[in-house]
Amino acid sequence: MSDPVDLRPNEQAVELEPASDATLRFIGTIRTPWRDRKDCPRQGNAEGPECQLVLDPVWHEGLKGLEDYDTIEVLYWLDQSRRDLIRQSPRSDGQTFGTFALRSPVRPNPIGTSMVKLVRVEQGTLIVRGLDCLDGTPLLDIKPDRCAFSPKAPDKSGGED
Ligand code: SAM
Repeated sequence: MSDPVDLRPNEQAVELEPASDATLRFIGTIRTPWRDRKDCPRQGNAEGPECQLVLDPVWHEGLKGLEDYDTIEVLYWLDQSRRDLIRQSPRSDGQTFGTFALRSPVRPNPIGTSMVKLVRVEQGTLIVRGLDCLDGTPLLDIKPDRCAFSPKAPDKSGGED
């Protein structure tokens, strides 16, 4: 539902029908040191604090092989975001940008992604560095940076193989 209050100068919200979302399945919970959005980094940093991706036990077997990767991609559900803004003012200065030109957590489907450093795996929990989300953020998915089955990027050098 659109929330007319709490808009910054020149921000714009839209009236939305009730969401008919595809049903997502959270696979676990992210544990971080941050309890308040203002304390979270805007983007994670590989030198940041260790955080935990705590997978629900039913998914533990799905981690097999992931320990071989140094960098993994994490997708998460920014569950405390409003979802109705189409123009936003990141600096609260009246200058606005379209939602899809930003990495703001405020978006129709508040999915966050981060490339993080995999420090270690401990019985269904991944210890990582490089996150930027609140403690308790629902975990959506984990992918290796690039796996053995990903096609190689085309050679753009123009040279011969
Ligand atoms: N790295 C992700 C991306 O680029 O898709 C997220 C970037 S977003 C700018 C990160 C910010 O989202 C944090 O600084 C915090 O203000 C906010 N945030 C973190 N966890 C959140 C949550 N669970 N719900 C809503 N907002 C959250």
